[in-house]
Amino acid sequence: MRIRTLIYYITTGFVIGVIALVAVQYITSANVRELITTNENLLKEYRLSNALVGLQKDLLLLDNNMKGALLPGDSARIRDFRISVKKVGQDLRILENASGSDTSLHEMIELQRLVSRKLEASQSLVDHFYRIGTTDKEIQSEKNEATKFTEVIIDLTHQIDSSGKQTMAEKIKLVDRSGQRVLNWNFYIIVLVLILLTAVFLVIIGRMKKQAGLIAQLNRSEKKLKEAALIKENFLANMSHEIRTPLNAILGYTNLLQRKNLDDDSRLHVTTVQQSGETLLAIVNDILDLSKIESGMMRIEEAPFYLSELVNSVAAMFHHKIEEKGLKLSVLCSAESPDRLVGDATRLTQILVNLIGNAVKFTSEGEIKLDIKKSKSGTDRISVVFTITDTGIGIGEDKLETIFERFRQAEDSTSRKFGGTGLGLAIVRDLVYLQNGEIDVKSKPGVGTSVEFSIRYKFAEVENMERQRDVIQPYPEHFNNLNVLIVEDNVINQGLMKHIMQEWQVKHKVADNGTTAIQMLEQYDFDLVFMDIQMPGMDGYTATAEIRNVLKSSVPIVAMTAHAMQGEREKCLRSGMNEHISKPVRENDLWRIFSLFFGKDASASNSDHFEVIDLTYMKEISNGDTAYEKMVTEQFLTLVPLEIDALKSALLVKDFVRIQQIAHSMKTSISIMGLDCLIAEDLDMLDRADQNTADFPAIIGHVSDVCTKSLSEAKLLYSRF
Ligand code: ADP
Repeated sequence: MRIRTLIYYITTGFVIGVIALVAVQYITSANVRELITTNENLLKEYRLSNALVGLQKDLLLLDNNMKGALLPGDSARIRDFRISVKKVGQDLRILENASGSDTSLHEMIELQRLVSRKLEASQSLVDHFYRIGTTDKEIQSEKNEATKFTEVIIDLTHQIDSSGKQTMAEKIKLVDRSGQRVLNWNFYIIVLVLILLTAVFLVIIGRMKKQAGLIAQLNRSEKKLKEAALIKENFLANMSHEIRTPLNAILGYTNLLQRKNLDDDSRLHVTTVQQSGETLLAIVNDILDLSKIESGMMRIEEAPFYLSELVNSVAAMFHHKIEEKGLKLSVLCSAESPDRLVGDATRLTQILVNLIGNAVKFTSEGEIKLDIKKSKSGTDRISVVFTITDTGIGIGEDKLETIFERFRQAEDSTSRKFGGTGLGLAIVRDLVYLQNGEIDVKSKPGVGTSVEFSIRYKFAEVENMERQRDVIQPYPEHFNNLNVLIVEDNVINQGLMKHIMQEWQVKHKVADNGTTAIQMLEQYDFDLVFMDIQMPGMDGYTATAEIRNVLKSSVPIVAMTAHAMQGEREKCLRSGMNEHISKPVRENDLWRIFSLFFGKDASASNSDHFEVIDLTYMKEISNGDTAYEKMVTEQFLTLVPLEIDALKSALLVKDFVRIQQIAHSMKTSISIMGLDCLIAEDLDMLDRADQNTADFPAIIGHVSDVCTKSLSEAKLLYSRF
């Protein structure tokens, strides 16, 4: 039964029930009223009957007293007679009051008339007797006449009494009948209400049963959905593993090939293979990101970060590309504090890199602007609006709606001309939405494009952001004393790892599954184990558990996993491993691991401590990618001396506009080495038009000193890459 029909039936039943109850109530109250009236009439009838009996009695007494009064010589009887006359008069009045509406008016009038006549006759007889003083014949006949009145009156009272009783008996019968009727109605109504209640109860029970069935079905579907999500997660992990493993080999070997002495042709081929490999890896990463977002596995982390540093480092990433294309990148950040925010810096970097990357890709001349506006939103939050504007090819109005869809590009020729898969903006939009933000794009073909997105961040507690001076792990020097165990089933990856180890002159052995690895660990001493996770036979997790729990060994174990899924690193660390690197394995990652475990200062004190540069932010952004670290250090070493020279020359010729421009641009260059806390304020002063220019020589002197010191430290850092 549908819910509408059910509601209809319940409402109809309720209305019928209410009408029936009202009807019964009405009939019952009418009956009660009738009962009350009948009872009142009965009472009157009873009073009338009593009054009639009283009249009869007093009439007989009157007759007796009249007879006594007519006896000569008994004067006392005359008094009794008079009293009787009075009494009968009173009886008449009582009778008048007691007569009910049902008593026949005619009979009552007749009774009154007869009683009055009787009284008159009796009185005139007694008067006559006392006037004449004898009892002659005439008096005798008058006496008989008066006595006869009494008989007629008594007959009439009997008649009145019995007719009243008869009327009452009929009324009582009527009341009985209607009472019975009400009882019957009450019974029917109760039966009807019970039937209705039972029907409603049965329907409700039926629906509850149906609902319980639906809930059970929903639970089953939810379980199936969860299973499907788990299968999808496993599928993604496996796919990621399957694709990244050969990619690992391709990128690793091309990397090695790049270092050989190749002729120009071969170098070009190797570079092409490497670039294609990198592109393929980027596509795989994009698809994985989308899948993670779709299956709800993309988590937004909350950690404190400096917005200006993040933005400057993103800008630094594009420095080469911008220069190469002859473009200009300017970053405008509203001075509104705070700069220390809490949110997902990695995802913000990913969004900015994607959008600025698109702007650079689709712009051949002109300028790219990144404008950042902050506005307070509540007591502990700030809304940050980022606008990336370019002077590129633009997007047709009809395409603006679709460019955020997956695999959609504005033009069919875009992929051919500019490359790309059409996934970037879809990921960007999802990442913005995941952080409860908004995104919008405006564009005009041939004029340029402007993408605006906003995200709300919390302010960071200052203590959380106390920047620690980074301790640089010195590059390892004598690796040939080390003995490394490579646990890997894939022959190509084994070959790649072996090759790198040979190049580094590191002693090593290879096991192709967990069981063999454990046997080898029992036989030999190893300084480090690289452990693949997915292997036939015993997998990496089980092998690690055995090494820790059965062999009781604390040898450092580094997971090598092709799973790029969220939480993979945490899972490895939880299962007893010490570090994690993801495939494709890069030489830089291996260096990082060796530096971490076997660098000179790995166990020594923090003696190699930089005085000026602070690498926290660079490390945070590079996420262990030493190639990136090397590149930005190189940029710093090239750019900063030029900028310092330009600053000094501009000061000499008092070109304050130029000083402002250089100071503005320097903010980007210096942030990667963490110099913000030392000279950002100085650069801000130089960048402000209203600043007193008399202070400029001192400010520029301070900036130059800090930069000179930082350059010598950066050179030292560079020599270690
Ligand atoms: P991809 O850049 O890999 O093609 P995206 O999802 O990042 O994919 O962008 C989708 C499409 O939107 C691009 O192919 C391009 O046609 C258009 N587009 C995005 N950004 C810009 C821009 N700044 N200028 C012009 N067109 C753009």
